[in-house]
Amino acid sequence: MSTETAPSFVIPPPSQVSVPVAGGGAFPVRRIFCVGRNYADHAREMGGDPTREPPFFFTKPADAVVTGGADMPYPPATADLQHEIELVVALGAGGAAVTPEAAPGLVWGYAAGIDMTRRDLQAEARQQGRPWDMAKGFDHSAPVGDLVPAARIGHPARGLIELRVNGAVRQGSDLAHMTWSVPETIAALSRLVRLAPGDLIFTGTPAGVGPVRPGDLLEGRIEGVGDVRVRIA
Ligand code: MN
Repeated sequence: MSTETAPSFVIPPPSQVSVPVAGGGAFPVRRIFCVGRNYADHAREMGGDPTREPPFFFTKPADAVVTGGADMPYPPATADLQHEIELVVALGAGGAAVTPEAAPGLVWGYAAGIDMTRRDLQAEARQQGRPWDMAKGFDHSAPVGDLVPAARIGHPARGLIELRVNGAVRQGSDLAHMTWSVPETIAALSRLVRLAPGDLIFTGTPAGVGPVRPGDLLEGRIEGVGDVRVRIA
């Protein structure tokens, strides 16, 4: 019996965060990375230049995920909570300096997710040159639908990506309109950090982001991938 491998925790260790897999099982979440401005129309609506920006990244804590259609509480410290529907990539393998050609081999599966954003805090952070963490990485800021294995659906590069609020379409585009493809995004991120199994990557949102209020029902759909559904409580 080895004793040196089991530290004596001074508080109970946190439970493992996971996302349900369609058809059964659970995917353990290690980290959440997100891409900024990955659709030209959204880059423009945020005041950027879609033609000259390489991908940039920010993070959310793993335990920001909201799964299984659970409610998302309206967060504190904002008057402008906004939705961003995104394709979520779940990594089953890791690596550093991965090539775009090798990147699909790291992907375990895909889901639809919503990068919830405190837009007022983000605008303030941008204006003052401060970090985005409190605008993006707050509690319950990452609703995610059930994951589907790439072994079942392949690697989607096109297809409708849509978000409805109370039944009305707010965002509608196609995965083919991403500035940086999923393999290019994985390759770029892997040059900044060593990727690992359990990592999720939110791959950016198309135009049409906007505010939500308590009581609103958000329903996201990505053709060939799946759905995400969350009510703002
Ligand atoms: Mn986003």
